[in-house]
Amino acid sequence: MIHAAGLVPFTTIDFPGRLAAVIFLQGCPLRCPFCQNPALQSPDTPTDTDWTDIFAFLESRRNRLDGIVLSGGEPLMMPGITSLAEYIKSLGYQLAIHTSGVYPDRLRDLLPLIDWVGLDVKAPRDKYDLLTGRPHMVDKVWESLTILRDNRIDFEVRTTCDPRYLTIDDIARLGKELAAANVSTYVLQTYRTFDGDINPPEESAIRSFFRDQALQDQLSALFPHYGTR
Ligand code: SF4
Repeated sequence: MIHAAGLVPFTTIDFPGRLAAVIFLQGCPLRCPFCQNPALQSPDTPTDTDWTDIFAFLESRRNRLDGIVLSGGEPLMMPGITSLAEYIKSLGYQLAIHTSGVYPDRLRDLLPLIDWVGLDVKAPRDKYDLLTGRPHMVDKVWESLTILRDNRIDFEVRTTCDPRYLTIDDIARLGKELAAANVSTYVLQTYRTFDGDINPPEESAIRSFFRDQALQDQLSALFPHYGTR
């Protein structure tokens, strides 16, 4: 069974061009050292969010929201995602998935239901184990990227720049790897500190990626659509 970890009833930024709500699903197989919500990692942790309330919400917002985002955690971790996605689509919503890309087979199965994907690519290939806290994930992520690209799914790749684990050179190398794979939309995300952040990075280090004009120029040149947030 999938546990729902929370609901954001309205967003204009999580599903490009659509008015949407976000459903957060419990469970993630990764152990990113910078994870801001480790409570989401176990799929078995009981939550206060009741599916009855979410289903009532989905029924009530038909024709008022364009889409629903399934996020996590890792929303593709649990097999029940297919039934949930089918139900959301049956109500007339467009569907977006925010994923770390570590379940390429499940992603492939869901393609007919998906309208947009936000794919986290966390590091260049040689640093993937460090950034995810798990070995052998990088090939799965790149398989997911290839699936999205080859099936012409509308998707964005994004990377969160935590200066404790990534350098400007890492992002420059990752940009080249992604451009070589014909990624067209890439977003560099600011690391945001949070309550309980152990040894948080300096603001100047966080901003260094975005102030480095050579890096920004390189990424702007590599991708037809490049942005920061
Ligand atoms: S993928 Fe997201 S939820 Fe999972 S461990 Fe990494 S940061 Fe946390």
